[in-house]
Amino acid sequence: MNPSEVETPPFRTIRQLDLEGKRLLIRVDFNVPLKEGKVTDTTRITASLPTLRYALEKKAKLILMSHLGRPDGKVVENLRMKPVGEALSRILGLPVQTATDCVGPEVEAQAARLQPGQILLLENLRFHPEEEKNDPQFSKALARLGDLYINDAFGTAHRAHASTAGVAEFLPAAAGFLLQSELEALGKVLHNPQRPYWLILGGAKVSDKIKLIDNLIDKVNGILIGGGMQYTFFVAQGIGVGNSPVEKDHLSTARQVVAKTQQRGIPLLLPLDHVIADKVAPDAQVKITDRPGVPDGWEGVDIGPKTREAFAKALQGARTILWNGPLGIFEMEPFSKGTRAVAEAVANCGAVSVVGGGDTTAAVTKFGLADRMTHVSTGGGASLEFLEGRELPGVVALAKR
Ligand code: AMP
Repeated sequence: MNPSEVETPPFRTIRQLDLEGKRLLIRVDFNVPLKEGKVTDTTRITASLPTLRYALEKKAKLILMSHLGRPDGKVVENLRMKPVGEALSRILGLPVQTATDCVGPEVEAQAARLQPGQILLLENLRFHPEEEKNDPQFSKALARLGDLYINDAFGTAHRAHASTAGVAEFLPAAAGFLLQSELEALGKVLHNPQRPYWLILGGAKVSDKIKLIDNLIDKVNGILIGGGMQYTFFVAQGIGVGNSPVEKDHLSTARQVVAKTQQRGIPLLLPLDHVIADKVAPDAQVKITDRPGVPDGWEGVDIGPKTREAFAKALQGARTILWNGPLGIFEMEPFSKGTRAVAEAVANCGAVSVVGGGDTTAAVTKFGLADRMTHVSTGGGASLEFLEGRELPGVVALAKR
């Protein structure tokens, strides 16, 4: 049996349901950034389009629900879903009705009046504290709005909330296309990778990535480490790193990772040189070191040119790459070259490439390379938890149905 079939719980997908004329309650992840009442990045809305278009084509009545920001169980005026509905309407070229709440008789009546092909966007789910508590009564109230439930919110699948888990108890449930494609792509790197398989790790902290390393260290054929987390590895080896970030209580973690790669006989490549700055600001004074380690008074902000070359070379023969965490402070142009060079190497090497984690996704998007990756995950926390080998409550809830 294919190992991915063993590990991934079986669940129905939207294709397996008869949608015609049905009220389809769809959990989407429309938690988009807003500025002055306008959506500033529509990536998450666009990611839901395959499911929405399919449901419209099949003549379903669409009832969409999402959270937006962190209103903490209260109505927060500037976290209403109206601007999201307007953005969706523009993108789809169709009218989108918005509701004044997400449960209750008024919304039920509005949902009941929908005709096939019409769309209703419910008000922010997190205006009700019961949503995050996964309250069964609230789940039931949501379920009253639809005939079928579809979960397409991969970005919140790691949360056991009423709209992501509880509601699946009360309606026939299935996965939408986004959830399905995320689970397939991430499942493949977890259970069924082509080899050689390289893991690229960066980002701020070792502690954030340790469970990921634990779950993957026995599966991969090599690891590249950059970003803020590298300095803990250097200090663990007695190499000074100046003012660079170090997690002193994770020195032994770093040593254990090194020891484990040595036991397995797989390469773990740390940077050979660094871009260093006298402060973390775009107008900082910047230098490049000629060896690993950062002098006192300086801070490591990116991998250096020798490292860029060495990392690109290591990736040349890769057949699968999983990348989580930027290699430098890519948000600032002078410190973005390392992350950019690695993104280009990943795009050009012909491997199956999976990018997970919010910042890494932001980086490849910023460099215009997202389309050149096999899969760019839309779920930061959810993709990390899935790759750590944890069960996602939103997926388990579908599997139970
Ligand atoms: P994470 O969410 O753990 O993947 O961390 C991403 C953050 O790590 C980004 O905002 C980067 O700016 C930051 N980062 C990458 N390299 C460094 C570095 N050398 N020093 C400090 N922060 C870094």
